Amino acid sequence: MSSVRAGRIAIVGRPNVGKSTLLNALVGEKLSIVSRRAQTTRSNILGILTQDDAQYVFVDTPGFQTKHGSPLNQRMNRGVRQALGEVDLVLLVVEAGRYDQQDRVVRQLVPAACPLIVAVNKIDQIADKNELLPFLARLAGEGDFSAIVPVSATRRSQLDFLLGELRQRLPEAEWPYADDELTDRSERFLAAEYIREKVFRLIGDELPYAVAVEIERFVVEGGLRRIAAAIIVDRPGQKPILIGRAGQTMKRIASEARQDMQAMFGGPVFLEVFVKVRSGWAADEQVLASLGYE
Ligand code: GDP
Repeated sequence: MSSVRAGRIAIVGRPNVGKSTLLNALVGEKLSIVSRRAQTTRSNILGILTQDDAQYVFVDTPGFQTKHGSPLNQRMNRGVRQALGEVDLVLLVVEAGRYDQQDRVVRQLVPAACPLIVAVNKIDQIADKNELLPFLARLAGEGDFSAIVPVSATRRSQLDFLLGELRQRLPEAEWPYADDELTDRSERFLAAEYIREKVFRLIGDELPYAVAVEIERFVVEGGLRRIAAAIIVDRPGQKPILIGRAGQTMKRIASEARQDMQAMFGGPVFLEVFVKVRSGWAADEQVLASLGYE
């Protein structure tokens, strides 16, 4: 094949700017998931969009989504820098009308040599479009951006334009992935990853050790997916942290993970999540194999 394009694109930005919403809007049902074994880099593949002659591999750079300051996050930010060194493009998501110190911190982690495209999201919240122009001008003065594209992820507006800007800057390369990799096993893997991400996001600072997620049941009944998952912790003392007062933390983990699954799988999900204590799980070969580490 000649003249096809493919590349890894990191989506970065401070919390709440709409990164997940934008990713979902971009890859939508065309999402394909690859197994952990295919990954040798520091970033996680979030989704792959194959459209026309281009394959966009969107990756996550863990660390941007957490609060700043803690030693754990500082360590993670070093990981972020390295992860960003392995991508072809960076898509920085900011919120229309707001670009401040928090955004600059993220922007500064991007290596100078890497093309940086800014998606100015949530433009639907700006009633008077004239207000947007001075903001875009200020943004242009902030840094060396390859392109600045106003979008609305929730309304799906200007997304084709954004993809066009990304496409132009993707290297010419053969596609690293097939365009139809969505399988049941991959969905299982993704389901576990979503739960792990929520655990990390909601209580990562309190659970500094690895948390494993095991999918115990994954049944597809028509359009409905019935999923049962165990969060495996190492010590009994970690269980109450996960469950939270009156089960609140667990409820949030399950509810947010379910929403992500529904968006990605394109149908309803019935999700049960529980906590299991298994001392020394990381040494348990069976657990590791079921998680795809074999
Ligand atoms: P993330 O933390 O950067 O991944 O942000 P999320 O994708 O979780 O979005 C944060 C909030 O912003 C959610 O309530 C979204 O519904 C909302 N949001 C995302 N994109 C848009 C948009 O284009 N317009 C509006 N009005 N809200 C948006």
